[in-house]
Order: sequence, then structure tokens, then C-alpha cells
Amino acid sequence: MAWDFSTEPEFEAKLDWMRTFVREEIWPLETVFGELDQKGLDRLYAPLQQQVKERGLWAAHLDPELGGQGFGQLKLGLMHEVLGTSPFAPNAFGCQAPDSGNSEILALAGTPEQKDRFLHPLLAGDLKSAFSMTEPHTAGSDPTQLQTRAVRDGEDYVITGRKWFSSNGSIADFLIVMAVTDPDARAHQRATMFIVPSDTPGVNILRDVPTMEHPQEEFGKLGGHAVILYEDVRVPAANRLGGEGEGFLISQQRLYPGRIHHCMRWLGVAGRAFDMLCERATYRFSHGKVLGEHQTVQNWIADSAAEIQAARLMTLHAAWVMDTQGSAAARRDISLIKFYGARVLHDVIDRALQVHGALGYSTDLPLEAMYRYSRAWRLYDGPDEVHRQSVARQILHGYAPPADEVPSEHLPTRRAAAREKFAEILEAVTAND
Ligand SMILES: Cc1cc2nc3c(=O)[nH]c(=O)nc-3n(C[C@H](O)[C@H](O)[C@H](O)COP(=O)(O)OP(=O)(O)OC[C@H]3O[C@@H](n4cnc5c(N)ncnc54)[C@H](O)[C@@H]3O)c2cc1C
Repeated sequence: MAWDFSTEPEFEAKLDWMRTFVREEIWPLETVFGELDQKGLDRLYAPLQQQVKERGLWAAHLDPELGGQGFGQLKLGLMHEVLGTSPFAPNAFGCQAPDSGNSEILALAGTPEQKDRFLHPLLAGDLKSAFSMTEPHTAGSDPTQLQTRAVRDGEDYVITGRKWFSSNGSIADFLIVMAVTDPDARAHQRATMFIVPSDTPGVNILRDVPTMEHPQEEFGKLGGHAVILYEDVRVPAANRLGGEGEGFLISQQRLYPGRIHHCMRWLGVAGRAFDMLCERATYRFSHGKVLGEHQTVQNWIADSAAEIQAARLMTLHAAWVMDTQGSAAARRDISLIKFYGARVLHDVIDRALQVHGALGYSTDLPLEAMYRYSRAWRLYDGPDEVHRQSVARQILHGYAPPADEVPSEHLPTRRAAAREKFAEILEAVTAND
């Protein structure tokens, strides 16, 4: 029977190297990020990315023939837990969103020419990309409502529409745009993906939307969320990804593994916040004892440890299901971890912030930033409510109404049935009495 929670020693050694590298080389970057423009950042990253490549850990999410490691979701999950400790680490390992997801799309659905022109340079770190699906005026949580249109015109498609929250859109060399090709088709067969180079006439990158994560208006920097107006953007049919109407099918294949990586990165963040919570508990003195001797703080520590452990096992289990049974089999597990993981992360950061008092609220510690970032995790890649709804629906498929609407566990009904079943014995026992 195979039911094994251990990590093979060779891979554990790689994780060890990553832990040290991320802590010593990447964490310091967090403190000077604000002083650098995109060019400065690229210069700072270059030698770090080189070290990762030399270690054979670059773009590990892809198969070896594409220069990746073919790790599978379980190993990738463990890796993302380490990288998640810093928002700057994935970029050093060539697996930052949205480039990693976009490279998966190109690997999955790209033609040989599309792979040569976009995928290989993306993997080499020579190009940057964005995924442009959400629109300001339609519900992103129900993308069957998309309004951006792509109309066939001879050998081209002409794309028209407005998108927003296209992460990294303002620094991207190309955008993967989801647009409706057949508004009359069935809901999930209306949209198609297109590769749109950012310098195509009609692509207007208007601004990066300031957010809780980056409250100051800035433009053209890693992590910005672009508003993009597509005005009669003409792209050759050769830039279509997959067939017409396959946009949702392709995006699901991208999102499933992506959610496992997100959840493991959140656990990396939660682990860091948890360490801060515990450290503070050891020395801050209040009402006659250190905080760690107060029962409420002990409860926070114990609850956080239990919740992190639960989320971690749930996520690794989802990764294992994907590796062993495929994406479709992991659908429910992935929805479970998406909303549960986001909640755990939020709560652990909240407790860590609380235990630090005013210091936790200040920008002298990374907790307030973690707290702001973590809020988005309950929204993107499907809001909590949609994942809960999906889980509940899948669970309810396994249930049917009981006969005559009497609950299956109704004790008087069961007792009557049991009396009938054991009638002989019951009679004999009663007679002996
Ligand atoms: C930081 C960040 C990065 C992002 N990056 C990208 C990107 O790179 N590319 C891209 O295309 N998009 C991106 N997005 C957009 C993201 O995918 C959408 O915000 C998300 O899909 C939700 O869509 P919406 O904002 O339109 O909210 P809406 O769809 O309007 O939903 C609003 C709220 O309605 C409620 N709701 C919706 N449906 C249900 C339901 N069935 N039951 C109960 N309640 C419901 C939920 O509470 C939900 O939060 C990003 C968003 C954020 C915050």
C-alpha cells in the first residue's frame, strides 16, 4: 500500500538549497524594491536567475523537452512553498505568474511556430507576458459573459474590447487575450485565446490600477495590473491558440495546476507570518508574563499550526491526485484548497499582526503588506463563493432525496425496520425473559 508522506532525499536537498537561496538572496530584495525601476530590477535579477539555471531549477513547471524539469505537481507544490515565502522569489526561478501559466498554455495549445516565437523566448526570460481575460463591465467570476469580440476577417482576426487587471500587462511583450468568437455558441464554447504582441496597433495600455497591494499610482512595473483597450486590433489567424471556442477548455487546464502553486505559495507566506507570531510570543512582556504564556496567544499558535497543517496536507493531496489521476479528478480538491487556503493564510497573518500590536500595523514589519496582499487571494482565480458553490454542487451530485422525504437516519423508521429484521431473535429473547 502506497501512502507515503516523505520527500525523496535528492529532492529534499534541492529544497534545502532553495530555502537558503531564497532567504539569503531574495528576502533582502524586498527591502529595496521600491527604490528600483523595472530596468534596475531586471539587472538585480539577472545573476540570481543565472544561479537558478545553473542549478537546473529554472522554469521547473514545464517538461524537460521545453527546458523544464517535468517535476509533476507534488514536487512543484513543495517548491512553491519555499518560493512563496517572498513575492520576489518566483521571478528568480522563471515560474512567476502569469508567465508560468502562459507558458503552460503555449506548451499545451501552441503550434510549433508559436512555440518558437513566444514560448522559447518566454522561458529564456527574453520576453514577458500577461493574461488578459477580465473585463471591468462583466463579472470576472462568470467569464461566459465576456464581451470582448474577435471577428474573423480574411486571414486575420480583429479584436475589440476593454480588459482590466491584466497583471504585468504594462511590461508585457505579448498578451494572451480571451475574446468571444461565436456569441451564439454554448456558453463555454464562445471564447478563443489569441496571442497579441503588445506593440500591435490598437493595443492601448492605459494605466496600471493602484490596489491594496500597490496603493500608489505607478506604471510599467512588475506586478502592475493593466487596463487595456483593444481597438480594432488585427492579428493573423496564426496567432489563435487552439481551435475556435477552445478558450475555456485551455484556461481550465492552466488554472488547475496554477491553483495548487498559489496555495503552496500562500503556505510559504503563512509559515513566515507564523514564525513572526511565535517569535513575538517569546519576548513581549505584558500583565506579568510573556505573551506566549497568555492562553489566547497559545490558542492562536495552536490554531494556526493546525490550520497550516490541514491546508498543507489538503494541497499536497490535491497535487498527488493530479499527478496520479489527472486534472479532472482533482477538480473538487482544488476548489477546496483554493478557498480554504486563502482563509487560513488570512487568519494566520491577522493573528501575527495582532500579536505585534502597533508594530504589526506599521510598515516597519512586512506583516501589513502580507495582510494587504492576502486579501486578493480570496478574489482571483475564482472568488471564494464560486469555489464553495462548485464544491457543494459536486458533493450534492452524490446525494439523492430519500424515499417519501423521510431522512435516511430517521430513528423510528430505522427501529421499525430493525425490529422486522431481527424479529425472530427479539421474540426469542423476550420469551426467555
Ligand atoms: C491581484 C489580482 C490580479 C489579477 N490578475 C488577473 C490577470 O492577470 N488576468 C485577468 O484576466 N484577471 C485578473 N484578475 C481578475 C480576477 O480574475 C477577477 O477579479 C475575479 O475573477 C473576480 O471577478 P470580478 O472582479 O469581476 O468580480 P465579480 O465577478 O464582479 O464578483 C464580485 C463578487 O461577487 C460575488 N460572487 C460572484 N459569483 C458568485 C456566486 N456564484 N455566488 C456567490 N457570490 C458570488 C463574490 O463575492 C465576488 O467576489 C486579477 C484580480 C486581482 C485582484
